Amino acid sequence: MRPVPDFECDLVVRGGTVVTAGSSAECDLGISDGRISQVGGFLRGRREIDASGALVLPGGLDMHVHLSSPQTPEPGVPAWVDDFRSGSRAAIAGGVTTIGNMTFPREGQSLRQALAHDLSAAKDTAATDYVLHSVMISPSPEALAELPLLVSEGHTSLKLFMTSEEFEAHAADMITAIRIAGQHGMLTLIHCEDGALVRSAGEHLLASGRGSLADWADSRPELSERAAVERAVAICEVTGSPIYIVHLSSRSALQSARRGQLRGLPVFVETRPLYLYLTSGALREPQGGKYIGSPPLREPADLAAMWSGLADGSIHTLGSDHAPWSLRDKIDDSLDVTTARQGVADLETIMPMLFSAGVRTGRISLQRFISLTSTNAARLFGLYPRKGTIAIGSDADLVVLDPQLRRTIDGSSMQSNADYSVYDGREVYGWPRFTVSRGEVVLADGQVVAEPGRGQWLRRNPTAAP
Ligand SMILES: [Zn+2]
Repeated sequence: MRPVPDFECDLVVRGGTVVTAGSSAECDLGISDGRISQVGGFLRGRREIDASGALVLPGGLDMHVHLSSPQTPEPGVPAWVDDFRSGSRAAIAGGVTTIGNMTFPREGQSLRQALAHDLSAAKDTAATDYVLHSVMISPSPEALAELPLLVSEGHTSLKLFMTSEEFEAHAADMITAIRIAGQHGMLTLIHCEDGALVRSAGEHLLASGRGSLADWADSRPELSERAAVERAVAICEVTGSPIYIVHLSSRSALQSARRGQLRGLPVFVETRPLYLYLTSGALREPQGGKYIGSPPLREPADLAAMWSGLADGSIHTLGSDHAPWSLRDKIDDSLDVTTARQGVADLETIMPMLFSAGVRTGRISLQRFISLTSTNAARLFGLYPRKGTIAIGSDADLVVLDPQLRRTIDGSSMQSNADYSVYDGREVYGWPRFTVSRGEVVLADGQVVAEPGRGQWLRRNPTAAP
């Protein structure tokens, strides 16, 4: 006789292979009150979804997206085309259930005012859960004094740009910011390209008549990234504060980060899908401006190094840096290497592309895929085990990924407001059949069914206090 369950779950995910960063088993999952309530055994649910033949994985965490503008929008001035509404739909369509947005202070705003602005923008529009990273442009005494307050209010990550003139002008104060952040259990995200080297390269190219968008790669030499990573690792060592290098792109910069890791320093590395699938030759194609992001596309040896870093664990996470423009604004030929519009759409493609080109080909294991797309980010950003795994008591954030489901990428028909994808025309295997967020089915048979505003901001505890 079959045992009779004493209660009915809200939702049962039936017949899939449940995989986490540490285990894999064919079993059913029970979900109640938004959380995983049972793994395996006999389950009955008020609603069931059929996961047979599919993989049931922890929902993705993409900790690097841009769904709010750094400036107050002005009519007629091109800007990023996604917001929390469209961006979170793209996330859901691609199996991502938690996003980390870069929140820039606009003119005259303090860090806390900027966060309050984005919290209110996301409140009624975001369909996935989210955290906000506080971007510090200027390390003024007021801004430094805000950092402990941010932590007490549940914001435990800070973002700095080594590319900015402000960084160069106030480098010692920026180091102080990183020190304070570490002391209070904040993780500092750093864009590592040396601003002076980048500006000098761009001006030199313009002066010699080679400053068009096709020259983008030359305007941001790999040396400027390596120099910045060396400096960031030194800052990590001097302050003892953990650092998270965003969108690392080159082999030599990865070697610099690895040397720090081997000395036991808390140096964490993110790379970005762009550097796994494209190389600098693409920038010279007609409309090559559509591939522009910074750092730029690199060489085949760098691409291979990124894959090795994903496989050997020296790269911890994949972040989309989703920051899309319309194609017309992107390839506008009045732009040059100093005014180019940086960023591409990648939220909907980040997980399927990595599955297709990584897991399916054997470049990375399925376990590593889960670490890179979910578990490591949850741990680093203070969200584990609420997010980033499938375990009793964890939020029921899941992606039911069908490894056989094949699609040809067509950015014009995807959820992002971008009208193209840098991967248009590529065949990709492994798309979500269902996405589940806190027990709610938000993608059903490939259709986004989430209500705007259902996403929740996630308060975080300090994570890295020494
Ligand atoms: Zn970014």
